[in-house]
Amino acid sequence: MSDAILPGATLGILGSGQLGRMLALAAREMGYKVGVYSPEANSPTGQIADIEVIGSYDDLNALRAFARQVDVITQEFENVPVAALDAVGEIVPVRPGRAALHTAQHRLREKTFLHGAGIPCAPFRAINTEDDLIQAVEELGTPSVLKTAGFGYDGKGQAKILRPEDAVAAWDAIDRQPAVLEGFIDFERELSLVGARGVDGEFVHFGLVDNTHANHILDVTLAPASVPEAVLLEAEQIARTIFQELEVVGVLCVEFFLGHNGNLIVNEIAPRTHNSGHWTIDGCVTSQFEQQLRAVCGLPLGSVEMLRPAAAMANLLGDIWPASGEPDWAAACAIPGVKLHLYGKAEARPGRKMGHLNAAAETPEAAAELVRRARALLSPR
Ligand code: AMP
Repeated sequence: MSDAILPGATLGILGSGQLGRMLALAAREMGYKVGVYSPEANSPTGQIADIEVIGSYDDLNALRAFARQVDVITQEFENVPVAALDAVGEIVPVRPGRAALHTAQHRLREKTFLHGAGIPCAPFRAINTEDDLIQAVEELGTPSVLKTAGFGYDGKGQAKILRPEDAVAAWDAIDRQPAVLEGFIDFERELSLVGARGVDGEFVHFGLVDNTHANHILDVTLAPASVPEAVLLEAEQIARTIFQELEVVGVLCVEFFLGHNGNLIVNEIAPRTHNSGHWTIDGCVTSQFEQQLRAVCGLPLGSVEMLRPAAAMANLLGDIWPASGEPDWAAACAIPGVKLHLYGKAEARPGRKMGHLNAAAETPEAAAELVRRARALLSPR
């Protein structure tokens, strides 16, 4: 640990959303200073950072100047261009580093990597022309899912193809961008695993969790997922392989589909903290954000032990805001054990992640009941 970046040093974050904010809070608790770089003013992270630089990810000189003010850099946003990482990497350590980001930010590279590492994922084809698309639909069949190769998240840049004759319209719907066609997976549930790897290669994870979505956006997470031990061991092995192959130092989330016969298929990977890991803030000895801080600063990783047998998280989207005024925060806070987290975003828009509720309990279902009940009280009908 001789070259660990110790409290008192400044953590640099590229990206300024809620993931950066919660990382910054963890860093401040441990006595670090925080610098943030992003194109946005008054951002969730900027509001609590010591140094806030507003600039474009294409402005390499401004990025280098930012890097000179910090001791290590990580990112909370996976679409940071790799040229930006390369520029700051000339000056300070950048973790998790180029390989993980470059792979995860492009679906074709991501799928090619997973396939090459022997990790189960949906069958896929690269789509650059209409002929590619027609041939791929013939090969993979319908239904299938067309996804833009770059810059997709939360179901954005996606179109489902139900019949072969709908294929071209689906590509039009995603502006004929380079894409990946994926075979449709008839899954039973969606699961994820958030892990962390230290500078010395130590690997820990927070177990498999169960995620339910609404309109392609995460709605509720239950921890732990109720799955047979063999499924957990397989997920752990897949995650370990991904961390090692991409030489990740930091946090990464693996999103899975669980098939009806108990098989795991990787949907995608995110080389950062993840919405499905927010429950760890109140559910574990060490949160995913403290774990990210420890990993990128070269400290020993923290205990991933749960404080109670189970936990749950419910997202708060802009949709729950009343036409005028605020949700009834006091009503939700009146439920013992429910913890409110808000991200400081000024404008509540439908689909925008504004905050979340956490609870811990004896069973995942009991924890989920608490956060769902609290959320229902926020916007009574
Ligand atoms: P993504 O942006 O790739 O995470 O996809 C968003 C959501 O679309 C996933 O959480 C799934 O619910 C669904 N989805 C994505 N890919 C597939 C697929 N190949 N088969 C079935 N459903 C999918």
